[in-house]
Amino acid sequence: MKKPTIIFVLVLLFSLSVVWPLQAQTPAPAKPSGPLAVKAGKVLDVRTGQVATNVYILVEQGKITSLGPTAPAGVPVLDLSNKTILPGLIDCHVHLLLNWNDQSSASFLRMSSPQAALWGWRNLQVYLEKGFTTLRDAGETDALYGQFALRDSVKSNLIQGPRLVCAGSFVSVTGGHGDLDSLAPDFALKKQVNIADTVDEVAIVVRRDLKYGTDWIKLMATGGVADPLSDFNVQELSQEQMAKAVEIAHRARRKVMAHAEGTEGIKAAVRAGVDSIEHGTMLDEEGAVLMAKQGTWLVPTLYTFQHGVEAGLTYNQDPIMLEKGKAILKYQQPAFALALKHRLKIAFGDDDDPAFAPKEFSALVRGGMTPLEALQTATVNGAELLGLSAEIGTIEAGKTADLIAVEGDPLKDITVMENVVFVMKQGAIIKQPKKD
Ligand SMILES: [Zn+2]
Repeated sequence: MKKPTIIFVLVLLFSLSVVWPLQAQTPAPAKPSGPLAVKAGKVLDVRTGQVATNVYILVEQGKITSLGPTAPAGVPVLDLSNKTILPGLIDCHVHLLLNWNDQSSASFLRMSSPQAALWGWRNLQVYLEKGFTTLRDAGETDALYGQFALRDSVKSNLIQGPRLVCAGSFVSVTGGHGDLDSLAPDFALKKQVNIADTVDEVAIVVRRDLKYGTDWIKLMATGGVADPLSDFNVQELSQEQMAKAVEIAHRARRKVMAHAEGTEGIKAAVRAGVDSIEHGTMLDEEGAVLMAKQGTWLVPTLYTFQHGVEAGLTYNQDPIMLEKGKAILKYQQPAFALALKHRLKIAFGDDDDPAFAPKEFSALVRGGMTPLEALQTATVNGAELLGLSAEIGTIEAGKTADLIAVEGDPLKDITVMENVVFVMKQGAIIKQPKKD
């Protein structure tokens, strides 16, 4: 362990030991209560769109044990009879280890790994408060893998947060979308652990991710928007490099996601056998046909591109990032329309400050989805992409008790998803509606 890391751990342990006895409520994760019946005014079946009224959802030991018209005698009832209940939401494209208020290219150079982990903890709380009970971290720049520490700490109940499925490093070519070093050559950093310019170097980065516990591999198939170096039109990793990553990951029973904006890079990633295309902003007809044929998922992250242009330089972006954001936006809607036309499998991803994550629902509907389809991306579809369909994604007996509530009818007005008033994760109540 590096010296600064040891100091950080000691300081953290010390502060926890001081704070915990005084404020048992704040840092300690909420625990599942005894048996509880949630009285739902309406329950949405996200598979079919059918709405059942006045349903008692019985929750015991973190699981949904039954749904019915009455509650068993003696079981306390939580009355949400004027609310609509949905499954806890799943966001398949987040980046936790960031201060989203500073999106400048220098932000990575100023952020220590411990500081990034603390931002991660804070971002987890925002996601949970917005109703997201499961997240897939779509890769980070932290060579020390703070995202894995967060994932494992949520799992062991050390901290409160959505359950996490994590990618490791951004596997990137030199000068590509995942190359943090935007300094002049006179000041160049030593080669970062995520940089891979050959097939063999990809194998090394992927194996390092696997060694330290990654769930997914994240490839930078093309350039992107939020960096000062790369061109989003251009394919970066070769198809051979990506195929090597897929071969090693699949053999290790892990999946592969590819950041892919430009048309050729999308197709190369799909041909290489990746499991999901992230963004897919310049998808063409041939690419859509290929994805449909291979069953490749799309995580379109629509709103973050729109928000980036609306926000201008509010969040310290380098001006070149804003220019790229404006240039790519015109491709977004035609590509998304192709994805819908070819009935691609689509999962929800926000790729933005968690405060804005719920805005992706409206963006999906503006892009052509029905409200139900938009809700499916963040529930049944997300669960399927993550291989967690047996546990999460719907409200059924036997599933984990991840429940949220909204006011109003999300099938009529998708913007109600921006105001989640109740959150339960694994039977523990995280957020309660304000008393009327
Ligand atoms: Zn991303």
